[in-house]
Amino acid sequence: MDTPLATGHVVGHLAGNYRPLPVTLAGGEGAWVRDVEGREYLDLLAGYSALNFGHRHPVLIAEAHAQLDRLTLTSRAFDHDLLLPFAERLARLVGLRDDDLVLPMNTGAEAVETAIKAARKWGYDVRGVAPDAATIVVADGNFHGRTTTIVSFSTDDDARRGFGPYTPGFRVVPYGDAEALRAAIDETTVAVLLEPVQGEAGVIVPPADYLPAARAACTEADVLLVADEIQSGLGRTGTTLACDLVGVVPDLVLLGKALGGGIVPVSAVVGRRDVLEVLTPGTHGSTFGGNPLACAVALAVVGLLETGEHQARAAELGRHLAARLDALVAEGRLVAARTVGLWAGVDLDVVHGSGRALSERLLARRVLVKDTHGQTVRIAPPLTITRDELDWGLDRLVDALH
Ligand SMILES: *Cc1c(COP(=O)(O)O)cnc(C)c1O
Repeated sequence: MDTPLATGHVVGHLAGNYRPLPVTLAGGEGAWVRDVEGREYLDLLAGYSALNFGHRHPVLIAEAHAQLDRLTLTSRAFDHDLLLPFAERLARLVGLRDDDLVLPMNTGAEAVETAIKAARKWGYDVRGVAPDAATIVVADGNFHGRTTTIVSFSTDDDARRGFGPYTPGFRVVPYGDAEALRAAIDETTVAVLLEPVQGEAGVIVPPADYLPAARAACTEADVLLVADEIQSGLGRTGTTLACDLVGVVPDLVLLGKALGGGIVPVSAVVGRRDVLEVLTPGTHGSTFGGNPLACAVALAVVGLLETGEHQARAAELGRHLAARLDALVAEGRLVAARTVGLWAGVDLDVVHGSGRALSERLLARRVLVKDTHGQTVRIAPPLTITRDELDWGLDRLVDALH
């Protein structure tokens, strides 16, 4: 055991690109997971929001089971009976424009890549940008995934260093600074790509006028506003989209994580027909994108969100979460807490050790969270958590801060 651990975090035959907390899970239901020894833990990470409806939500599991007995994969060489309903109901749920299109993919990074390709091609075909000159404005501290193009415009040294040569065509501006964003747009700019709330960076909520100002700057310059809602979307912020909080309508919205119901990877680009229309047969695709099992699960996810009840619950429980975290800040036990919906980033004083150390102390108290950067821990419970369960977890957080 000691020898492999000496080379990074490799254990046995498993590549060492993660450093998980020391727990081995074998079961889960709702907000709870169980380890191989039968110990139960409250999951306050929820798969980075991929588990917005908790583990094995009965409605989602039933739809997945039923679809397993019907049809699982066709490839896009053939149509299947859930593809059009999926596109229609997802477009309606997101509710940007009546005639929006939906382009299904699998992982979040693929949705980001799809948006980059669509924006560039739209820039050349429609906007008349000079060949291969398109630029996309992105924000400092962003997290959009792990492909070589996406890490090219990451500002996280761990994520980026060593993976060049980097894809050109991106301009990084400070997050939350509308003037800098506006100044970075020129005649080559085809899109501005932003997280409405930066999740991986530690649940960073920009000033309330930031996204509206970004929207205005994009509209003025005929540039696409692309909202990466892969982590912030689908109920997490107490609204269907984080953009809904400030009434901003992006040109393209990227969804992933929770869209797969914690069962299968499902992502999608939702947005302007005249933009997504530039992707014609042969220009883009995916073997698994929009497969029947994915569509069945995603349709069930859309069904859960159509009533608005999960969004309302996230908003209500989020107010409680914010009140409790703000009290800890007021008592000096936390340096800062940023809460939006049922989602929080808390910054720890160094006297309490690192985010990792707190995560380990919480693990010992049967609560699962994960540090993001250094002194910051993210709290993102399933939206289905009860208030009592949330309080149980927060009581243990208080205990672990001693
Ligand atoms: C997780 C995430 C991604 C990447 O999603 P994957 O499914 O891991 O590829 C992209 N953008 C944001 C905002 C994310 O949180």
